[in-house]
Amino acid sequence: MTTEFIQLNLHPQLVQAVTERGYQAPMPIQSAIIPIMVTGQDVIGQAQTGTGKTAAFALPILHNLQANQDHIQALVLAPTRELALQVAGAITDYGRYCNARVLAVYGGQAYGPQIGRLKRGVDVVVGTPGRIIDLIERGVLDLSQVRTVVLDEADEMLSMGFVEDIEVILSSTPAERQTALFSATLPGPIRRLADRYMHEPQSITIRSEQVTVDTIEQRCYLVNSHDKLAALTRLFEMEDISSALVFVRTRTGTGELSNELTLRGFPAEALNGDLSQDAREQTLNRFRRGQIKVLVATDVAARGLDIEDISHVFNFDLPDDPEVYVHRIGRTGRAGKTGVAISLLTPGERRRMAQIESFARQKIRRVALPTAEEILASRETQLMQQMTMWLQRGRCHREHQLVETLVEAGHDPLTIAAVALKIARAEEKQRPIAPLSEVVETSFDRPRRERGHSGVTGRAPRAWAEKSHEPGMVRLSLNMGKRDGIRPSDIVGAIATHTDIPGSGIGKIRIQEGHSLVDVQEAYVSQVLAKAGAVRIHRQTIELHPVSSN
Ligand code: AMP
Repeated sequence: MTTEFIQLNLHPQLVQAVTERGYQAPMPIQSAIIPIMVTGQDVIGQAQTGTGKTAAFALPILHNLQANQDHIQALVLAPTRELALQVAGAITDYGRYCNARVLAVYGGQAYGPQIGRLKRGVDVVVGTPGRIIDLIERGVLDLSQVRTVVLDEADEMLSMGFVEDIEVILSSTPAERQTALFSATLPGPIRRLADRYMHEPQSITIRSEQVTVDTIEQRCYLVNSHDKLAALTRLFEMEDISSALVFVRTRTGTGELSNELTLRGFPAEALNGDLSQDAREQTLNRFRRGQIKVLVATDVAARGLDIEDISHVFNFDLPDDPEVYVHRIGRTGRAGKTGVAISLLTPGERRRMAQIESFARQKIRRVALPTAEEILASRETQLMQQMTMWLQRGRCHREHQLVETLVEAGHDPLTIAAVALKIARAEEKQRPIAPLSEVVETSFDRPRRERGHSGVTGRAPRAWAEKSHEPGMVRLSLNMGKRDGIRPSDIVGAIATHTDIPGSGIGKIRIQEGHSLVDVQEAYVSQVLAKAGAVRIHRQTIELHPVSSN
């Protein structure tokens, strides 16, 4: 229990604060770093977010604070405003029985309040390098008596171009200060920084295998690149998601994917560097409150994200760097909860996955994607569970009255119930189950794959990706033709508008009596099929399915 924190010889007020926060024992990085830092020695901690590194440096800083000083005693540099706020919040919380005065400073915030707080007296400043330099240059931040400097997420600060700023800041602090550096990786420039500015630092490494904890279930799914969206929506259907973080490679990708998911009945929002600080904060708050379940982010945008109970992390795009993989999935399975980390893997990325596995020293399970039949069955199971719950709960007084009115009007109760279910399931139409193309594998083991995939129409067009008569085109059949009075321009207009593909994505169109044949560029087929449920021509919802080659 808390005796372990007591064994670290921290002030009782600190032990009380961490106990009240629910910490029962120090995490490995805390047991390693705290004894070094309380003695004033320099330390390098190679560790990622989620390992408990904040408390590892915050507790010794607080332990070593001297009461009633009128100068800043400790400085923490962090790459982002988000992380600065999070760290300042943690230090304030751990220091609440020591009356520690903690201030976060970061760009984008008005100078007035920060300067006012600095004038009134602050013990610990946590800030982003740019703003710290601004405040030094304005002559309102005096670091000449700082005893401890912490560089948090040093590699992130490096990749954001802050190294020179850090050097300037370190030069404004006393040469005999204590320096602690935390970084997930230790690239050359960080090592050089440590060599120049640190004094015989002790190194502590929390190995990555301890980071990919057992509480995270890791799986990967092999799919063709153009089927990733279809695969993701299938997984969304089957997973019990309370909140999910989906990683994509580019910032434009975040907007595109969140729109696509929302259109398919899975509301999602994008988190990217284009958002203003306010918009970002609002999005994060909606996510924290559970108003949105799915955030689509880039690695940069997700930096410093401090949300405890993310149930799922999805690697829509696999990261290039295995360390980034470990970092991403460490966002779930935290604080004793279990989490799921799912990666979509294209055939060309199998080598990269192998690298990730060797880095994480873990085999990541390859699983076959859920079939359309499994999804339909799962939808029905969920509907039946909901029905059973409401049947047990009762409390449908008004609905009862409505049913009675229908019975009095002569309708059969069973039929009324069936119609009610049909209405309840109407929203499923917004979630068409897009087909998946066969993944061609060569040397690696294949997962067991479904045979036949249900298309939007519920058929099983095995060879949906078969070419049309033109290269690069796939022929789709549409359930409206001459007898419905449609013209090629109706088809092009409706498909291009509703599915968001360029007109050039549509090739030859042949209108026949009861149906039409439409050629669509292979790259857009998944997109068109997935959105077919939303396409209307002459106020009629269309049905589209690939023409089988046989
Ligand atoms: P960090 O790596 O500093 O971002 O911490 C990761 C999470 O672990 C945070 O939510 C902390 O509140 C939590 N944490 C830190 N130390 C402990 C501890 N000794 N016991 C339980 N949880 C902790």
